[in-house]
Amino acid sequence: MSQLKLAVEQVTPFRQNCTIIWDDATKHGVVVDPGGDIDRVLETITGFGLHIDQILLTHGHIDHAGGAARLRDELSTIAGVPVPIWGPSEEDKFLLDGLQVTGEGYGIADARAVTPDRWLHEGDHVVIAGHKFEVLHCPGHTPGHIVFLDRQLGFGIFGDVLFRGSVGRTDFPYGDSEALLTAIRTKLLPLDDNFVFLCGHGARSTIGQERKTNPFVGEQA
Ligand SMILES: [Zn+2]
Repeated sequence: MSQLKLAVEQVTPFRQNCTIIWDDATKHGVVVDPGGDIDRVLETITGFGLHIDQILLTHGHIDHAGGAARLRDELSTIAGVPVPIWGPSEEDKFLLDGLQVTGEGYGIADARAVTPDRWLHEGDHVVIAGHKFEVLHCPGHTPGHIVFLDRQLGFGIFGDVLFRGSVGRTDFPYGDSEALLTAIRTKLLPLDDNFVFLCGHGARSTIGQERKTNPFVGEQA
């Protein structure tokens, strides 16, 4: 049984939780949602002596994906082999294509457009630190948003779909609150009570806590 370790770096002015997950025995792992502050992310990777096999993206927003192209370049140089970017689903291509322009608007000068090496879809699997994680498509916050979860471990990375006490914003031109709430109710809330998930912003939570207390999708909603 591999030992899953994780480090969270809050990146960009949006304080997005860029998460590094690795197997403590092999030191191999992945980086999820490197939105920016790549120097700091690299310091953490180097500090723990990690080999990053892959960069994963939950969706195309700048605070999650703006630093992915640079991190891919830097890690590929360090590793001497290409380090691929996987995800999100291709419905978010327009967001990834526009990252540099979006960055200029937010004063994030180093954001770069990025094309993933592979789009991910509902039912795909990715290996994170030796564990097989399932990919679920949870649109609404963005059209191509995906989440990663391992039901056996009881652990997932949910990006901007479900937060502790809240849900992802849908007030963008492409936002769809009905799709978001449906995805949360049908795909995430049925998970076990003690299932732990990391959010793109703020503290982690459990499915049990959100099912009981979340004002948008919980039992009282
Ligand atoms: Zn977002």
